[in-house]
Amino acid sequence: MINLVMAEHAGFCFGVKRAVDAIERSLTRDAEVWTIGLPIHNPQEVSRLQAMGLRVAESDSDIPAGAKVMIRAHGEAVEVLDRLRAKGVTVEDMTCPFVKKAQDMAAEFSRQGWHVVLLGDKNHPEVIGILGHTQGDSEVVNSEEEAMSVRQCPRIALISQTTQRAEKLAGVAAVLVGKSRELHVCNTICNATAQRQEAARNLVRNNKLDGVILIGGKQSANTGKLRDIIASEGIDVLWVEDERELEGKIDWLMGKNMIGIAAGASTPEWLINKVTYHIAQTR
Ligand code: SF4
Repeated sequence: MINLVMAEHAGFCFGVKRAVDAIERSLTRDAEVWTIGLPIHNPQEVSRLQAMGLRVAESDSDIPAGAKVMIRAHGEAVEVLDRLRAKGVTVEDMTCPFVKKAQDMAAEFSRQGWHVVLLGDKNHPEVIGILGHTQGDSEVVNSEEEAMSVRQCPRIALISQTTQRAEKLAGVAAVLVGKSRELHVCNTICNATAQRQEAARNLVRNNKLDGVILIGGKQSANTGKLRDIIASEGIDVLWVEDERELEGKIDWLMGKNMIGIAAGASTPEWLINKVTYHIAQTR
């Protein structure tokens, strides 16, 4: 008999669920529904939405006039939204409200002439989208070292990608204090990521587990971070995208009686249920 213990917070965060639910609703009533880029870092969920008719464009230029585009939780730059509307595309903006707040702050500080410094990964769509709400004088840094090269400015507004750690934001703020007369730090960090990380840590620390099965897309950075946290607690972790991956892992399951279940913020509930059902049927 295998006993399963679920992490307190696992699977879709609020913003991703909100966007995916809206895409699903739109697919049941609108003729041609697109997203720019994958709507979520989970191949099984993307396939499910594509089977319902979702079309995924690489860029806004691929979306035909008259179509409908759902803006994913990461958001988009203002110029992308403007280009879409200008060519007659219907836009339903499902940018996560927490990301929207960071976009609005970036826009407002930039409009008032502050130098906007955005803490985050410069290639991440959310960061590109937030930066796309500023009016020029802005830059991205991803570490205290990178913050050292920010030039001296009278007024700096520091804004964070929603998934950054609070300690990192504080470290970068400490560097920027010496570079400006006025520093405004916007704590735009969303706690969904930290919550899932804390839940994964507690899952391991508060239970006598023989191993953890982590469910989530292999391209999902937040799921990868969960894997690192669980492994750093010295526990055996098996990362799977779906229940079919478990079929070749009977050896891993053998002899394990107490298994923890964790999942990233981009893992849908139906997939978690499928995997846990499959494990329960294993013996
Ligand atoms: S992690 Fe937070 S900010 Fe990002 S989509 Fe989820 S709820 Fe929104």
